[in-house]
Amino acid sequence: MAYKISADTCVACGTCQSECPTGAIKEGDVYSIDPAICIDCGTCADACPTGAITPGE
Ligand code: SF4
Ligand code: SF4
Repeated sequence: MAYKISADTCVACGTCQSECPTGAIKEGDVYSIDPAICIDCGTCADACPTGAITPGE
């Protein structure tokens, strides 16, 4: 399980990347989370201004 970023709501602001303690978030037109590195801490989801990040199934 790892957190996921919705491409529909991510505005590529970069806040999640600077808040992530493990460097799991990669930038791009839409940001993405590497499930092999994410530790499910939820920090990015709390920091995202658009609510684009949700816990994975
Ligand atoms: S904080 Fe939210 S809107 Fe900003 S880059 Fe991350 S997922 Fe996208
Ligand atoms: S849940 Fe934590 S480790 Fe995973 S991407 Fe978000 S801030 Fe990084």
